Amino acid sequence: MNQLIVNPMTLSALSESKALQAKRPVVAIIGGGVSGAATAFHLAQANRDPAAQIIVFEPRDGLGRGLAYDTVEPAHRINVPAARMSLMLDEPDHFLRWIDDNAALLGDVDALRPDGNLFPRRSVFGDYINAMLQPLVTAGTVQHRRCAIAHLLRDEQTWCLVDDAGTKTRADIVVIATSHPPPVAPGGLQTLLKDHPRFVPDPTRPGALDAIRPSDRVLVVGNGLTSADVIASLALKGHTGTITAISRRGLRSRGHAPVPQDPAGDFLTNPAFTARALVRNIRRAIREATAAGFTWHGVIDQVRAQGQSIWQILPLAERQRIVRHLRPYWDVHRFRVAPQVETALDEAIDAGRLEVLAGSAAKTTVEGEAIHCTLRLRRGPALARTYDAVVVTTGPGHGGILASQPFLTELAESGYLELDPTGLGLSCTRSSEAIGSGAGVTPSLLIAGPLARGTFGELMGLPQVTEHAAFVATIVAERLEVTVLHPAQNPL
Ligand SMILES: Cc1cc2nc3c(=O)[nH]c(=O)nc-3n(C[C@H](O)[C@H](O)[C@H](O)COP(=O)(O)OP(=O)(O)OC[C@H]3O[C@@H](n4cnc5c(N)ncnc54)[C@H](O)[C@@H]3O)c2cc1C
Repeated sequence: MNQLIVNPMTLSALSESKALQAKRPVVAIIGGGVSGAATAFHLAQANRDPAAQIIVFEPRDGLGRGLAYDTVEPAHRINVPAARMSLMLDEPDHFLRWIDDNAALLGDVDALRPDGNLFPRRSVFGDYINAMLQPLVTAGTVQHRRCAIAHLLRDEQTWCLVDDAGTKTRADIVVIATSHPPPVAPGGLQTLLKDHPRFVPDPTRPGALDAIRPSDRVLVVGNGLTSADVIASLALKGHTGTITAISRRGLRSRGHAPVPQDPAGDFLTNPAFTARALVRNIRRAIREATAAGFTWHGVIDQVRAQGQSIWQILPLAERQRIVRHLRPYWDVHRFRVAPQVETALDEAIDAGRLEVLAGSAAKTTVEGEAIHCTLRLRRGPALARTYDAVVVTTGPGHGGILASQPFLTELAESGYLELDPTGLGLSCTRSSEAIGSGAGVTPSLLIAGPLARGTFGELMGLPQVTEHAAFVATIVAERLEVTVLHPAQNPL
């Protein structure tokens, strides 16, 4: 575990001054999904006295769930085996043991796969992180304020957070961990269908699919993991209508390896300096793995494990090239569907209920409640189709992060934030400090989680998300002048 102690010099200085004692430093974490909760958790390990107040602002009723794990849909499963998802840096099987200790899979016979891997429902992982935070919240070491931050203002030496009820909180250090903005529906569809009773622009909202009737013909825009979730959820609800899933390239998220295999290949000894060389190296490693009787999965796992270092070596233009040209291919291999979800998709395809197309919805008109679409295909003639429902599954719109919430927009306008040049999130330093066009680097404003991907590279799933949160906690601890016993390594 990342373990830190308070510097005695700092503590004695603090205790000498009542005024200072009254003014314990405040760390405000905006967003209590996995990133915010894990940052608070690892910081709290450092902060046993406690030297600082840790406040997490999160409107959801528990910490640690966030967008991914705050779901009651039984079809929503973690998409990497439970053995690879842990809050503890040095205890990779911590989640597995928690599942065991709490009989968390009672009644879920599908969770255990024939190869021995566990793929629990996503809510179980949310329960786990929440359970780890709960004692800290009860003890007051971490405060959970159930509200959203509406404004964040720099005021002399401190930050002023204004929540959605108008309450103000002062903080010395602020960590932005809001990660995933809602998906952005293609402009035409949003305008045309915004009042349609079965237009679902954000399927991650609770009950979003309830409007869809069992025999509805459904157009799903997007083909990634959210699309897979939607199709599996509809199947579980007894949906029997036809589904078209369309995305520009028609790439479907891949499944897991038929048998577990270790990461394979080495992308750091002779690293690639261009996107093209990186692809060459990956292809070569896959050929070698295949020749040795394995599949591509272990190679992609290795690219993922070494991803942050690989990313750092690449110049900005090459990173941008990767985001522009290779990201869709990377995403479908790196974000794999849980086996249970893959089975649901395969069954739907075999039964002729699901078609996966490469193209886009070109022309759409509405007649009563019927949605007529012309699907322009990547190859072949256009198709004319009629649907009863449209679901947007293009995933969180990270490129639009600055416009997604007033406090982010205002911080950008006042020069504290800017979009990362790769378009993947917010600009930050290798210490995760925000960079803005006006203020430059702001050491008291940190970015935790996937919004820091432009700088850190691979930073979307576990374990990278918890590693990064522990790293941010280390940076915060340094800012609070506490001594780090076993600092989380800078992943770069
Ligand atoms: C649908 C989905 C499924 C995934 N499944 C897996 C998986 O199985 N395995 C895996 O390894 N990875 C998975 N991931 C990837 C990864 O685990 C997530 O990206 C991770 O949960 C990110 O957590 P986060 O806390 O950074 O962001 P989020 O989950 O987006 O949490 C951000 C939190 O901030 C809060 N917030 C937003 N604005 C404000 C505000 N103004 N004030 C206060 N709070 C605010 C939100 O309510 C939210 O709870 C998945 C991702 C998604 C989107």
